[in-house]
Amino acid sequence: MKDPKRVSACLFCRIVARELPADIVYEDAEVLSFRDIRPKYPVHLLVVPKVHLAGVADLQVEHEPLAGKLLRIGAHLARREGIANSGFRLLTNEGPDAGQVVHHLHLHVLGGESLRGL
Ligand code: 5GP
Ligand code: ZN
Repeated sequence: MKDPKRVSACLFCRIVARELPADIVYEDAEVLSFRDIRPKYPVHLLVVPKVHLAGVADLQVEHEPLAGKLLRIGAHLARREGIANSGFRLLTNEGPDAGQVVHHLHLHVLGGESLRGL
């Protein structure tokens, strides 16, 4: 059994556990969303599952409802942030070539200005 006093090394697990502060904008039983500490756009949220998954490549069949929920909540938060009509981007980085820095699955919600094309 997991020791509840064990301090996780994972940054986003620590935010989920409230061991580290974050500007939280959404929470339910499975998902947490908070503002990126170094926003690259006027709106820059991160949507994370509470369960630790290192990235999108760790998703298994049993995670499909959770993966869908991350997208739905990302779009819901875009609406709440007032960027749904002007447009927004949901993205996740996987591995070094994508520049993944935090190895806990997260969806970036980006918008509030014209986004550079991919
Ligand atoms: P990645 O490149 O892994 O997809 O993105 C990680 C994101 O997490 C970056 O945009 C970075 O600014 C953000 N980030 C890193 N550390 C923290 C933190 O302690 N708090 C918050 N809110 N965001 C963080
Ligand atoms: Zn984690």
